[in-house]
Amino acid sequence: MNPYTLLVAVALSAQTTDKKVNEITPALFAEAATPADMYALGPERILQLIREVGLAPTKAKNVWTAAGQIVEAGGELRPDWAFLEGLAGVGHKTASVVMAQAFDVPAFPVDTHIFRLARRWGLSRATTVEKVEADLKKAFPIETWNRRHLQIIYFGREYCPAQRHVFATCPICSFAATKAQQDAEIKARAKPKKPVLPPA
Ligand code: SF4
Repeated sequence: MNPYTLLVAVALSAQTTDKKVNEITPALFAEAATPADMYALGPERILQLIREVGLAPTKAKNVWTAAGQIVEAGGELRPDWAFLEGLAGVGHKTASVVMAQAFDVPAFPVDTHIFRLARRWGLSRATTVEKVEADLKKAFPIETWNRRHLQIIYFGREYCPAQRHVFATCPICSFAATKAQQDAEIKARAKPKKPVLPPA
């Protein structure tokens, strides 16, 4: 994946499973793997190719608009926070993934797994993505951020379900989760409410 296709794949992943993104991106990138080609496709064709992902109409429009913005700016992505976050449909998390994975710039993208685990593990008590990110950046040395965020995501996907996990016997949460966090989760299970989810 090049920086541009990474950006598109991450932007498409909001409100959609990674599995679905992996299914639809090969056909999309076979037709357009560069901003110029994507812009030439037009929003209708992009929508046809990505229609199975959540919020497809908005994402198709954003992918096309962002491609145009990149073309206008010289045709390539560059490691520039303001430039990346100024692209249509690209939020701080998507820009952070591209900075970290494509350009090796230290960043700590907070996705839904990291948000949940940082709070369960007592690394942050914050309730917003911005503050959780700031707490994690304080908790880990900057040279480890890019590696650490991937480690937490992979661990979370593999071992940490949103529910039906047991704090007391888990090798991490049995010592890392605070009593308050455990009590809060038990209460939340008894009375389900809408989870606080970070944005794309
Ligand atoms: S109890 Fe274990 S499985 Fe559950 S969130 Fe904590 S580390 Fe993950």
